Amino acid sequence: MMRLSGHRPALRAALALAVVAALALAVVAALAGPAHGAVSAATQTRTRTVPRTLAATASLGALSGPSRVVRPDFPVAGDVRVVALNTTDGPGRPVAAAPEVTASTAGPAIVTRAGWGADESYRFDAGGHEIWHPTFFHLQKMIVHHTDGSNSSTNWAADVRAIYYYHAVTRGYGDIAYNYLIDPLGRLYKGRWSGPAGSRNQSLDTPTAEDARAWSVKAAHAYGANSGTIGVALLGTFSAVSPTAAARAELAALFAWKSWRHGIDPTAWSTYTNPESGDQWFTANIGGHRDYVATDCPGDVLYGQLPAIRGAVAAALEDWSGPPGAPMLSARRATGGVRLAWTAPVADGGNPITEYRVYRGTSTGQESLLATVSGATLTHFDTATERFHRYVYEVAAVTVAGEGPPSEEVSARAG
Ligand SMILES: [Zn+2]
Repeated sequence: MMRLSGHRPALRAALALAVVAALALAVVAALAGPAHGAVSAATQTRTRTVPRTLAATASLGALSGPSRVVRPDFPVAGDVRVVALNTTDGPGRPVAAAPEVTASTAGPAIVTRAGWGADESYRFDAGGHEIWHPTFFHLQKMIVHHTDGSNSSTNWAADVRAIYYYHAVTRGYGDIAYNYLIDPLGRLYKGRWSGPAGSRNQSLDTPTAEDARAWSVKAAHAYGANSGTIGVALLGTFSAVSPTAAARAELAALFAWKSWRHGIDPTAWSTYTNPESGDQWFTANIGGHRDYVATDCPGDVLYGQLPAIRGAVAAALEDWSGPPGAPMLSARRATGGVRLAWTAPVADGGNPITEYRVYRGTSTGQESLLATVSGATLTHFDTATERFHRYVYEVAAVTVAGEGPPSEEVSARAG
């Protein structure tokens, strides 16, 4: 969302802030109030019924298949028993007792890594080399976890620090394995580092968990399915008890923003393809850890609440009034140029799409307006190309309420 350069960054930032605030309010209202019954009804009518055996079969096949992952995928990274860790004051890291909650222009209000006291030295070995360089992929799926730890704490930031220490140092990953964490008070914590590789400057970590192309950083929360997914962990154990309403509302608010931002239908099922290994699962776009790996995570109770959470996200998107969300864009080489195709945003703010704006550049952040097409058009054939040259593209939807955020950046060589 926060583009370092490119088209109209100030407008985009202001837009993002307004959208996020409204989405968060809508979701909180949907989850907290008597509208809960309406949310469930919406879920039933919107959720496609998929046999569980189908997902299970796909999962088993993928697990037993050969791994072609370039970088080792950390096994069952999440689900740490933080009860065994020192969660009273964290692993020797002096920080303020209360986490610093910072408003963000790029998503729901988030406790930054600086806010919860991440010691960035854990990401580096004794020689000063970064242990786990950040890599980024197109977002396909959102995956829910629980941390399998205590449901009570007087200092949740300390719990986050303890999990970070366990993942980064004890297990040697070099970072925390989740993209985001949420505590029972509904506070959202930034997880895995998504700033520049090798940097320890916490002000450069992106609160979006994305890079300048709006691709999402790979974490280590679901073995074999970490690329192109984000893992969000609710702090606690939800096998027999429910997460708090505040935590569920924050989870839905995060997913509503991500859905709006990336053109993901929160109630749909689709094939996830690991962009590194090629392994596939047929799963809900908002799913649980157990949909990918043999695990109890995120706990029976929380897992059973996922349909309601998807419904709340969908309701928030349907009720959204504001600029449209981002299309989902793809590009492929074709004789004479590059063919682009995209999906309509999952939230149009109640207004018809008047046009789509196609942006093109030769490198990230350098895109400029290439074409404007009608709101009924979902393709563009770029023939103003030089053969074999690589181009990068983004598409943004426009309504009377303004221009929405751009799609994730895609690239293709011209034919
Ligand atoms: Zn998990």
